Amino acid sequence: MRFDTLAVHAGAPAFTIDGAHPTAPPLVPASSYWYDSADDLDRVLGDQQPGYSYARYASPTVVAFEQALAALEDAPAAVAFASGMAAVHAAVRLYAQRPGSVLLASQDCYGGTFTLLGSTLASEGVNVQFVDVFDIEGLARRVSEQKPQALLVEVVSNPLERVADLEAIAALCKQRNVALLVDSTFTTPYLIRPLAQGAACVIHSATKYLGGHGDVTGGVVACATDDQAAALRSWRKYTGSVLGVLEAYLSVRGIRTLSLRVARQCANAAAVAHTLSRDPRIERVYYPGLPDSADYPVACRLFPEGLFGAVLAFAIRDAERSTVMRFLERLKLVRAAPTLGDCFSLVLYPVIASHRGLTPEERRQRGIHDNVVRFSAGLEDAADLLADFDQALS
Ligand SMILES: *Cc1c(COP(=O)(O)O)cnc(C)c1O
Repeated sequence: MRFDTLAVHAGAPAFTIDGAHPTAPPLVPASSYWYDSADDLDRVLGDQQPGYSYARYASPTVVAFEQALAALEDAPAAVAFASGMAAVHAAVRLYAQRPGSVLLASQDCYGGTFTLLGSTLASEGVNVQFVDVFDIEGLARRVSEQKPQALLVEVVSNPLERVADLEAIAALCKQRNVALLVDSTFTTPYLIRPLAQGAACVIHSATKYLGGHGDVTGGVVACATDDQAAALRSWRKYTGSVLGVLEAYLSVRGIRTLSLRVARQCANAAAVAHTLSRDPRIERVYYPGLPDSADYPVACRLFPEGLFGAVLAFAIRDAERSTVMRFLERLKLVRAAPTLGDCFSLVLYPVIASHRGLTPEERRQRGIHDNVVRFSAGLEDAADLLADFDQALS
């Protein structure tokens, strides 16, 4: 089946209630299960027989979400977590298991990931090194020098929307026997399916596009093999980083409309990017869908035709921090909440949100200047979004 069809049907319940097939997955809050036969319970708890026993191990609504996401990523299995960060932590831990393990990660990765790897994992003795994944030659050098167990990459960087050449990176990892872990939160399986490129696993924050309506905190890892999935389930069982049942339900519900939402959000982002790029009040727009963007060719090669993602950034000409703060307040429609991927449009000011932990100098080195604002397109009419930006800028 094709993607749009899978999105609508994958993870549908296989069981019946008195012969009737429910069209939506069951919301099962039970924290444990009993069997008529104590021998059945014994075998289920001993992993000799499939079945539910205790919700921290597995529960039907969470499995429905895992099956739906696995189908969209064309993965044998997926494992859901309590948040995107729990998913990142579990995936990374699978490959950087002990002191001395070498882990490379994109230096432009999500702020939470940067701190988790650079502080928590590093303090536990994992040799974490941040690399520039946009310089393939430099990356190849680092990989052959460091011989890492794994490389963690985000397909699109935050907030400047650089596009990593996943094909070239996957080829490099394959050649050097490095596990490629891809955080595809910004891209969703609608734009790219990294397992097909050779990734070992794909991570999503379901809080963003998969949930899509601003009411879910969740995460998921789609795995290239069943063995990885089993290892992640075991990690989840003993760390307790379990996705809530309501969140799993809402994530399946979000997946049902993922194709429609992301297509519209990409179109809205493109409309805003093109208009702002011609606005004299805007110094620069960062969006791989602009033909003069350095990453336009890579994006055209990796993503379906005409799709370049639904997030962009722009620099307001001559704006200092206080000017940007007043701009955020003047917006009437677009909300300045620190997330992305929701059905409503959002802006984020990296200086006070995602990148506030960096020094001004570190931000400057990354090109995240004080006048840069990130925009995550929602489902509104693009004309209303443009009108809101226009009034807030003037
Ligand atoms: C939001 C996000 C995360 C973390 O997800 P949470 O659900 O907030 O824990 C990880 N990676 C990326 C790219 C994100 O955007």
